[in-house]
Amino acid sequence: MATLATSLEQLPRVSRKILPALKRLGIATVRDLLFHLPMRYDDFSNEKMIGDVRLGEQVSVAGMIRRVRVGRTAKKHMGLTEITLEDETGEISAVWFHQPFLARSFKEGMRLRLAGRIVQSPSGGLSFTNPAHERLTVFGTNRADSLAPAEIHTSGLVAIYPETEGLSSRWLRYLVKTFLECSYGMPDPLPEDLRTRHGFSALDEVLRTIHFPKNLTAAALARRRLLYEKLLLFQLMALKERSRLKQYPAPPIPADVEILKKFTSSLPFSLTNAQRRSIAEITRDMEKSKPMNRLLEGDVGSGKTVVAAAAALVAVRAGYQVAFMAPTEILARQHFITLEKILTPFNVHLALMTSSERRRPPAAHVIVGTHALIQKNVRFRSLGLVVVDEQHRFGVAQRAALLKKEELRSKNDKGENKSSNHSTSFKILHSEFLIPHFLSMSATPIPRTMALTIYGDLDLSLLDEMPAARKGVKTEIVPPGDRARMYEFIRQEIKRGGQAFVVCPRIDPPEEGGEATFRTGVTGQQKLIMAEVKTVIKERDRLAREIFPDLRIAMLHGKLKPAEKEKTLAHFRDRASDILVATSVIEVGVDIPNATIMLIEGAERFGLAQLHQFRGRVGRGREQSYCFLAPTEDGTETRRLRAVVECTNGFELAEKDLAIRGAGELFGTRQSGVSEEILAAMSDPELVRSVRADAMGLIKKSPDLTTYPDLSRALTVFEHGLHWE
Ligand code: ADP
Ligand code: MG
Repeated sequence: MATLATSLEQLPRVSRKILPALKRLGIATVRDLLFHLPMRYDDFSNEKMIGDVRLGEQVSVAGMIRRVRVGRTAKKHMGLTEITLEDETGEISAVWFHQPFLARSFKEGMRLRLAGRIVQSPSGGLSFTNPAHERLTVFGTNRADSLAPAEIHTSGLVAIYPETEGLSSRWLRYLVKTFLECSYGMPDPLPEDLRTRHGFSALDEVLRTIHFPKNLTAAALARRRLLYEKLLLFQLMALKERSRLKQYPAPPIPADVEILKKFTSSLPFSLTNAQRRSIAEITRDMEKSKPMNRLLEGDVGSGKTVVAAAAALVAVRAGYQVAFMAPTEILARQHFITLEKILTPFNVHLALMTSSERRRPPAAHVIVGTHALIQKNVRFRSLGLVVVDEQHRFGVAQRAALLKKEELRSKNDKGENKSSNHSTSFKILHSEFLIPHFLSMSATPIPRTMALTIYGDLDLSLLDEMPAARKGVKTEIVPPGDRARMYEFIRQEIKRGGQAFVVCPRIDPPEEGGEATFRTGVTGQQKLIMAEVKTVIKERDRLAREIFPDLRIAMLHGKLKPAEKEKTLAHFRDRASDILVATSVIEVGVDIPNATIMLIEGAERFGLAQLHQFRGRVGRGREQSYCFLAPTEDGTETRRLRAVVECTNGFELAEKDLAIRGAGELFGTRQSGVSEEILAAMSDPELVRSVRADAMGLIKKSPDLTTYPDLSRALTVFEHGLHWE
């Protein structure tokens, strides 16, 4: 007998030939199958007698097969199967193209239900084209088993699922019907009183309704129930994290005002008021013996690095180490160069650590790196401050991972867990349970309320003021007809001494859906990288051959080794190349002041916030800069692209993006580790508020959730999922 945990592979009722397709959809177990949710429904609830159907209506009819005919279309010689179906009131024909196997399964006298739209047949009568079909028993209707309705393909609301080649919605529906009973009586993570209060059914009933709803209202409520559960788990996780954070003190780091003054006057520019204010907020936080948890948010180019550098300087001066993390090696290296420039005069020792290099032994004060800093056994002597750039790329998950690791180490130091082979050399000053202050930086402008719901109770510093003396970037949409002119303009600009970025179109992950991508992990990611490499090489070759044979064109993509990447960028920075063709790796942080052109191919494929990020790569020097948005096809999504042309404010664009595409796209589902639907729900403040209140109520009643074992188990699974990516 199958259970929810049974692997579909082990079930004889599951055809071997669909196993690869199931795998592609990330469906391994019966549970996975039942949680593969429909994306919409076909409405076949309009059941009629054949004599009553009207042209153009969507309808479901039942009858007996009178005739079966196999043939070819007159024009294109397509294979076709035609039947005539009759009931007491009349007859109607139905035609299927390209489905020869149907002819074999239809027999005269067989009882059948058909559903679809009524069209005019070539002979003038009424007809179905490629309708849904379902065999009925001789008694006219199928036996309903305990959970699923009798007819699942042609009657009522019919679920349409995310499909993949070789696995249609029809097939999925059949599988769901077959195994739905495994969910019967399954444990429900939501405590009963919560369910009652919100009018939610038990989980087995919810699944039944989602796959085979009686009406759309019921389906929507069932979905809301699942979403509610995810949001609740998310909030519980945040609350747990927060209470864990509160348990440990942080080292109070006194702010050395004198050194801050010296630092400020050592800079080649004067700080904006927003930068001064943020530095004050951060250093004030660090003086406390409770861990800072602050997000520094500011548009591209608003000068976040120098603010973080000031905080790092203060920490180092007080005898602490600082970990400074960036999302990519390129950015880590760039931060290293920047920080070295501005901090070395203050006797701060820096080290760069990426997966491929250790520039100096990590006896340094400030250790710059990628998240390899979390994953590897980096030994900190006295970690006082952690700075994470482009925080949304690290996500809640990694942040938790970092804290966890430190926690573990301090435990090891105390000798609680001697057998662990984790590094035990992590020593924190004063107390074994101190954890570092945490500063994250993000150029993705998140509305404050949303930041709070996503990241829990963090504090926010806003850089809402751009450094003066910066020319804006002129942005233009380039229809295909204007390409020649644009290329000529770029050539002139390069002749004048400028440089250009060319960003290649975004490529969709080979597997649809975050879950599927997540499960197949490496291979999916690998395929994506290969596809990106291909486009980059193709575009480089095209430009070099057809457009700019006279210019030097370099390229940057995910397949290059870090050293090669850095060499390419260094060349570009030194103006040894004129044009850099790249994937979205240049999205964040790359700082090349001499570049004045940003050409984005396939611009409609990117989110507004992302386009704005690209645009932020230019306009960093004294010269006027330009951003060209080249859509793949004429007129695609110009409303969105026009928003980028008209709006130069990242915060405004983010809000527009939120409205147009939802939060998932804004943050990047894979980056944040939070599913798109959760992010989308975050923009529903009322729902979030009620979930939050519920989560707090539960924690208050049972801080470790022992009263709610099913919920507690679900939370563990949920956290594991997030921490994995
Ligand atoms: P982001 O916020 O995008 O990380 P950066 O920290 O990279 O921005 O800063 C962008 C550029 O602006 C850098 O070259 C930096 O030196 C410069 N910059 C930072 N603050 C100021 C300021 N107050 N006045 C002028 N230039 C500044
Ligand atoms: Mg930056």
